[in-house]
Amino acid sequence: MVNEPRTVRLDVPVAPARGPVERMARAYVNRGRWIADCPRPHCGSAELLDPWQPVFLCGACLAEAIVDWPRDAAAISSVLAARGNPAWMNWFPAGHHLALISNCPHGQTIGDLMAEDEEHAQELAEWASFGTPVEAMMRTQVGRFPFQVQQIEGA
Ligand SMILES: [Zn+2]
Repeated sequence: MVNEPRTVRLDVPVAPARGPVERMARAYVNRGRWIADCPRPHCGSAELLDPWQPVFLCGACLAEAIVDWPRDAAAISSVLAARGNPAWMNWFPAGHHLALISNCPHGQTIGDLMAEDEEHAQELAEWASFGTPVEAMMRTQVGRFPFQVQQIEGA
């Protein structure tokens, strides 16, 4: 996203950088990319995340929020990246609103993801026979998660 000067309505309070839990931006994986939706009601924007990025800054409304990362984000990235096809690189934390409205799995453990791989082994192998593994998820694999995730109170 290009950062351009923008006009901000002054009567809309910007969330504090260390806001309450309901102002957390929950990290999820969409087509091989770690993303978080803006937690400000009615904004509807989303931002790409770098591994363990601690603070979410919304490019649309400028709200800030703590990013809520799963503790096993590196392992999730690794398992999903191995699928090669970004269409199959998706993960939602438990109860994520997008998963609920789209009837997608959520709160999957590493074991769940690996069981999913076994369940779809034939499709994965078939895709690998003609597909080109993409780089998107690869850049957020284990090696790109150099820091320990912080325990977030109330999360
Ligand atoms: Zn926003």
